[in-house]
Amino acid sequence: MNQEGYNPYIAAQTQFDRVADLIDLDPSVRQLLRQPSREVHFTIPVKMDDGTTKVFNGYRIQHNAARGPAKGGIRFHPQETADTVRALSMWMTWKCAVVDIPLGGGKGGVICDPHNLSKGEQERLCRGYVRQIASLMGPVQDVPAPDVMTNGQHMLWMLDEYEAIHGGHYPGAITGKPVGLGGSLGRTEATGYGVIYSLREALKALDIQPASTTASIQGFGNVAEYAARLYSTMGGTVIAISCWDQHDGKSYTFRNLNGLDIEAMISIKDSFGTINKEKAIGLGCEILEGSEWIAQDVDILLPCALENQITVDSFAKISKKVKVICEGANGPTAPDADALIQERNIFLVPDFLANAGGVTCSYFEQVQCNMNYFWPKDEVLEKLDSKMTSAFQAVYKLSREKDIYMRNAAYVIAINRVAEAVKLRGWV
Ligand code: GLU
Repeated sequence: MNQEGYNPYIAAQTQFDRVADLIDLDPSVRQLLRQPSREVHFTIPVKMDDGTTKVFNGYRIQHNAARGPAKGGIRFHPQETADTVRALSMWMTWKCAVVDIPLGGGKGGVICDPHNLSKGEQERLCRGYVRQIASLMGPVQDVPAPDVMTNGQHMLWMLDEYEAIHGGHYPGAITGKPVGLGGSLGRTEATGYGVIYSLREALKALDIQPASTTASIQGFGNVAEYAARLYSTMGGTVIAISCWDQHDGKSYTFRNLNGLDIEAMISIKDSFGTINKEKAIGLGCEILEGSEWIAQDVDILLPCALENQITVDSFAKISKKVKVICEGANGPTAPDADALIQERNIFLVPDFLANAGGVTCSYFEQVQCNMNYFWPKDEVLEKLDSKMTSAFQAVYKLSREKDIYMRNAAYVIAINRVAEAVKLRGWV
């Protein structure tokens, strides 16, 4: 458990069970889909720079591969747990299914804080990770990607180890690789842009002009940064972002009621993603407590950082002005806060729909690797927008037709697709 009393796996299963009841899912399909199909837990001994050996614990969990190879990121996180990885692997299955790409769901993790590891130690950790799962991963089995605190460099070390073991080039074995080495243009922007493509569609459904709106964002990592950029380009005003400070371990909300200059805020982030407070004050920001992002008088909340942020308690702080919650993070809303969002009639764009842009672009990366022909960035982003928009429209249509909550509508579509694959394959 990474937060007291909160277990993301229970949250993922609770969400799943609600929809399984709603659609009267076949009991054996339900039993199969409410848990991962395969888990590996392993140790990774790493030779440290000081000559000692440190042993790390790693996981790779495959939830389902009925629609295609398992797909999902690898997180490096000091509070990683098997249950977090289980939950995230489940959400990956629904994510790939809701945008209708031919991939299943998986996730990996290592309990570590990469900030405390040298470059060489990180490389040895990546290689050690792959050595433990080399026979279970690959382009037709399970395809890792970057996630929390991992990046293209980590992916390339992992790919290199995989290719050394298997003796050949397998660029489709890992996605999120650097551009020029099998990576796709647009992959870095993809998750954050995808969040805003789906927000744009939500605003259209509500007949609200983006340029007339304000937003508050939790997080300022890769997803939040590109979401903030595209939202500003559409004319929206970000008045607050909250960000974790690597140096003192606390989080802060940076607010400017006249609107934050996103490019300026990005320019004062250090290599750990921490915003420089003095420079922020110089840019006209007020600095509030980290949790204050949720209490701002805005039209849109974009939780783009952590799980379990919108809870029954924190919901009480959400302004009556908020019309849309668009979930960039995985699992930012606790299951018992969903009823409150519905009661207040806030339009929700659920996580595995809103943040599916990353994995969709990973799929495009695999396609380009298979062809050995790479598309220009505009083409990638155009295809991404089209995939995200049609997924949003299908979920929104079902939610209107059946008068169901957007999260449940997304689950109905995703679960039905996976259930059909499982049945057609004759697994149940
Ligand atoms: N880590 C990203 C996610 O949670 C992307 C996964 C991928 O590209 O496979 O969706």
